[in-house]
Amino acid sequence: MPNRPKGSLPAPLRTPLILLPTPCHRLNRASEELGIDLWIKRDDLTGFAFGGNKGRKLEYLMTEVLASGAKVVVTSGSADSNFVRQLGAACAVRGLVCHAAVMENPYPEGKPLFHAGHKAPKGNVALGRILDVQYHLIPDGDWSVLEAASSNLAAELSNLGQVYEVPLGGSSVAGAYSFYLAGQELSSQLGDVDFVVTASSSGSTQTGLAMYFQGSQTRVVGISADPEPEIVDDLSDLSGQLAELVDRPPLRPDQFNFHLSYVGPGYGVPSDAGNLAIEWLSRREGIFLDPIYSGKAFSGLLDLVGRREVSGRIVFWHTGGLPALFSSGFAGTA
Ligand SMILES: *Cc1c(COP(=O)(O)O)cnc(C)c1O
Repeated sequence: MPNRPKGSLPAPLRTPLILLPTPCHRLNRASEELGIDLWIKRDDLTGFAFGGNKGRKLEYLMTEVLASGAKVVVTSGSADSNFVRQLGAACAVRGLVCHAAVMENPYPEGKPLFHAGHKAPKGNVALGRILDVQYHLIPDGDWSVLEAASSNLAAELSNLGQVYEVPLGGSSVAGAYSFYLAGQELSSQLGDVDFVVTASSSGSTQTGLAMYFQGSQTRVVGISADPEPEIVDDLSDLSGQLAELVDRPPLRPDQFNFHLSYVGPGYGVPSDAGNLAIEWLSRREGIFLDPIYSGKAFSGLLDLVGRREVSGRIVFWHTGGLPALFSSGFAGTA
């Protein structure tokens, strides 16, 4: 059982959705080959809607949704969003209607390598459709365009009744809090470790973990799936909000170990290094990663281990995302 936080605000309540704790186990062949002590935290195995890190966040976000009394939930994301899929499942469990404003490619400078459009849904879109998520496809733009579309959609739907708007990627204090508890969960499974390496994007995963492990010997390394350097300021802001809940000091941007160099061509676009990392791990451990987040994060881990910037006992946090493997078109190099 998690300790209750000692901060000035009451502890958020959990709405159970996923199977906790997720497994944590050693990667023996990979460890031997890399000369490290490598473990993996299996948030791909939450037992909920194809798994992934959004399940943890949703356990606390749904508490807020349910408390509001709203029957309609609105969010936004890329068309192939893992969050929209898992939110759709959480809404199904509670008999709520889920709407999502989505765009195919929120990184228009990048070259989209796959199309998650309405004609031939694949990956997360196919699963979201099965769950009856109401997708509203808007033209490509940046994240702020997407967030504006979400607000507009919420305003339109509010004519029909009360609407709850969930932030992009489920990144809110509630989401970050769930990963603060996840840090505690890992500690109780494995004790002290040297590094935790995770994919990072909208920030609550890395922020929650970094807040939990601050002041310990464990360093949390975030590998960004998004090329924007300002993200680290968002992580810091989020840590400020979480600080009030858990009674630990907030983290400044420079206190986050945050890497932008493994994004490749852009957000939502698979990278060659990421695809090779997916292949590398699957061929040694029989474990799949995804092309948008965890594959790129594992490519970062391999590189940082090669540079000896990361060593000793390392935990790779598998954040899930597997349905995107089926929309990326990657089918191995040889
Ligand atoms: C959303 C997501 C992430 C990033 O988590 P954030 O908390 O948004 O930073 C990483 N991996 C996968 C598979 C995801 O779906």
